Amino acid sequence: MTDYATGRRRYVDYDPKAGYPAGSALYYECLQCGYVMPSLPQDSMNCHCWNIGIDIDYGRVVVRDHSLMRIFEALPSSDDLGAP
Ligand SMILES: [Zn+2]
Repeated sequence: MTDYATGRRRYVDYDPKAGYPAGSALYYECLQCGYVMPSLPQDSMNCHCWNIGIDIDYGRVVVRDHSLMRIFEALPSSDDLGAP
């Protein structure tokens, strides 16, 4: 399983007018179809309902309804952090 499917999530506040944060640990979640995609995918991709699309050729993210999109950072599992 991938980390973001099972790991902890920290949701990120963002301003759609200022662009979408992206990073190796950041993921976009569509609240309409439930799809989760990496913010930096290898290939262009869309969620199942096409609310969120990432076009890597143009380096842009297209979102139809921002209220149906959340961005979260996948946090390492507690196992990775070592014993407190
Ligand atoms: Zn969707």
